[in-house]
Amino acid sequence: MAQTSPETVVFSKPKVELHVHLDGAIRVQTILEVAKRRGIPLGADTAEELKEKIILHDAATLTVFLSKFEMYMHVVAGDREAIERIAYEFVEDKAKEGVVYVEVRYSPHLLANSNVEPIPWNQDEGDLSPDEVVRLVNEGLGRGEKKFNIKVRSILCCMRHMPSWSMDVVELCKKYKDDGVVAIDLAGDESLNSEAYPDHRKAYEEAARRGVHRTVHAGEVGPASVVKEAVEVLKAERIGHGYRTLEDQALYKKLLAQNMHFEVCPVSSKLTGACDSDFTKHAVITFRKDKANYSLNTDDPLIFNSTLHMDYSIAQEYMGFTEEEFQRLNIRSAESCFLPEEEKEELLSQLYKAYGKMHNTAF
Ligand code: ZN
Repeated sequence: MAQTSPETVVFSKPKVELHVHLDGAIRVQTILEVAKRRGIPLGADTAEELKEKIILHDAATLTVFLSKFEMYMHVVAGDREAIERIAYEFVEDKAKEGVVYVEVRYSPHLLANSNVEPIPWNQDEGDLSPDEVVRLVNEGLGRGEKKFNIKVRSILCCMRHMPSWSMDVVELCKKYKDDGVVAIDLAGDESLNSEAYPDHRKAYEEAARRGVHRTVHAGEVGPASVVKEAVEVLKAERIGHGYRTLEDQALYKKLLAQNMHFEVCPVSSKLTGACDSDFTKHAVITFRKDKANYSLNTDDPLIFNSTLHMDYSIAQEYMGFTEEEFQRLNIRSAESCFLPEEEKEELLSQLYKAYGKMHNTAF
């Protein structure tokens, strides 16, 4: 896999990132420090040792991938200081990667320890509710935005295996709509079809009714039918991953015609086994040839030991991406972001200016 070094920064112009998980983008050093402060044993004393445990080196199964979160989520979940800190540090890391606008997602429930059913890393009832988690993340993101001069918004995730949280999530989206939260997401095991979970559907209907934007993880490892359901039943405006849409050509053509946005995560898709391990066969190559609407994203850079630069350099090295395509996809990403129209226009102007293009020129 490509190594990150200044030489491999293939696209140094301003970027937009739309699919990255806050709890999959924590600094290893921060996990170590918080564990030490809280007296939580980690089974690792140095950042290197901890990295060795957390990082996925080869394509894994979903179970192995999810088990990585269990190695460190108990350290940050339920801890106010840690949650504000990881949000702040996330903004710093994105600013360093040349990202000017990012939408970061997380499940407020998985970082809370009160008002939630027991989760693998948090069996003890504490006093940090999902609502307060959102406030703390907002504080950290806001502090980061001021300090590092980039724009950050958040997306709250429902989990496929926890339908009882979904109405809560949409209520939080509504409550914090004017305070940094722009959308709702559905993450987790796609084999748990949401048809079986009326709560997810109800939450998405409420989101649509109340003007909360919608994205859904679909067609990553699950079949094209999950994408179809995300669009038709959950009224998704963007699709997280969506690679397997290509298996249903009629659906793919329809989504192309609708200008549906696909949130593509190259490094992630290899390591989770969602795509062929040969990058030259990646679905995004078809998206690029068809001039589809998509973004390039990291997904969970902590677990993949990756950066956004790595995703871009892989796209260049193995998938035939050019500077022109990087510009085009970032413009499409900005057009598909969940900012209000006026702020979207500002972001687009910023990109056009940096790319030396005329606004409103098709490319
Ligand atoms: Zn994801």
